[in-house]
Amino acid sequence: MIEEKQQIALPGEKLCVLEEFLSGKGTKVSADGVVFATVVGRVKFDRKKREVQVEAIKEPDNIAVGDVVLGEIKELQSKSAVIKIIGKNGRLLKHHRTAVLLTKLGSKESLGHHVSVGDIILAKVTSIISGLINVSIWEPGFGVLQAICDNCGATMTSVKKDKYNVYCPKCRKFDTRKMIIHRGSEKSLSNWLGLAT
Ligand SMILES: [Zn+2]
Repeated sequence: MIEEKQQIALPGEKLCVLEEFLSGKGTKVSADGVVFATVVGRVKFDRKKREVQVEAIKEPDNIAVGDVVLGEIKELQSKSAVIKIIGKNGRLLKHHRTAVLLTKLGSKESLGHHVSVGDIILAKVTSIISGLINVSIWEPGFGVLQAICDNCGATMTSVKKDKYNVYCPKCRKFDTRKMIIHRGSEKSLSNWLGLAT
């Protein structure tokens, strides 16, 4: 018998302890034996198998022009960057997509002045041509949510010093990024990643 509660679990949500139900699809067990959800979905307790599952709610992974996407900078050249899209419109994608970020139209500045490999960015989908997704961070409210130091890989913090606006607390490098100014960056990043409490 499968008991289907109309209960929706969020990633990280505690479902039961291992003594009650075993960990099935869409769940994991913590070191202290708590079974928690790893996906957004419907909770199912299978009493016969003594197993709890979370059936993922299917999210269409289609990307459309105008979508707000969360991405990671994977490769960087002076005029373009390859982005791994990991979420859209506030939810994480099951299957990551690849997109291209181009330098600001008419700008002679290198893209490396605004982003770096490893950075987490919030971008807007501007066009999709033959499956090639183009994103932009040049409107206000878009840009880098989390800057990663290109020297040591640590997370950088915002500062104001001369022409620099980010600082690495680990290796003390100063650098520049197009940081997001109009959104609460830490909060929106944790919301995206499902870490909001
Ligand atoms: Zn560093």
